[in-house]
Amino acid sequence: MPELILVPTPIGNLEDITLRSVRILKEAELIFAEDTRVTKKLISHLGFTKHVLPFHAHNEHKILQSVIDKILSNETTVLVSDAGTPGISDPGFLLIRACIENGIKVTCLPGPTALIPALVGSGFPCDRFCFEGFLPHKKGRQTKLIALSQEERTIVLYESPHRLTKCLGQIEEYFGSERRVCVVRELSKIYEEYQRGEVKEVKLYYENHPPKGEIVIIIEGKN
Ligand code: SAM
Repeated sequence: MPELILVPTPIGNLEDITLRSVRILKEAELIFAEDTRVTKKLISHLGFTKHVLPFHAHNEHKILQSVIDKILSNETTVLVSDAGTPGISDPGFLLIRACIENGIKVTCLPGPTALIPALVGSGFPCDRFCFEGFLPHKKGRQTKLIALSQEERTIVLYESPHRLTKCLGQIEEYFGSERRVCVVRELSKIYEEYQRGEVKEVKLYYENHPPKGEIVIIIEGKN
């Protein structure tokens, strides 16, 4: 039976890939990747070579049916993104849904993703949480921030470094300056950092230390 396997890839340290993921990548007849160069580099680091085909945000609608046809004519097809788990703020969802509609078995391997270590390491309650990914840049942003300011669960956001202080400023405006946040930067990399405190303090820190790299913002729920 044809199967699509979603394989999470490292978000920093290459040792984070699981033994099972390495084996599945080795055995796959077909690999689709967000950026074929990034995936070929990872595969070459793992010690083998593979033909890798593109599946990214710009072509996923256009090539969906041809990808489904290819999956149907193979045993095992793998989908990877550049880093982390496919489908989590990365291409994947459309293909997963189409596979299920076409009776194709879908399996997602457990593995790296930025949101879980950031959430757990923040020290905020992680028994219940809400993941919002990247907030909309313009339209709908204010409405979303107003709604989230009333959210009682811990909130997880993805953000880019050049928008961090602006985003913290908006959290201060809509949630209040004393709402506690944790900014998690460069997870699983050399300069991994957790900055915890009231949003006004964390914002001040990053105004004085402009951030680089990849960022997750964790916001304590309203209590
Ligand atoms: N699919 C990925 C996952 O499972 O986490 C997310 C991909 S999304 C395009 C990239 C965003 O994830 C970054 O802008 C950042 O917010 C977050 N991210 C990815 N790697 C990270 C890291 N090592 N440290 C902190 N945040 C990271």
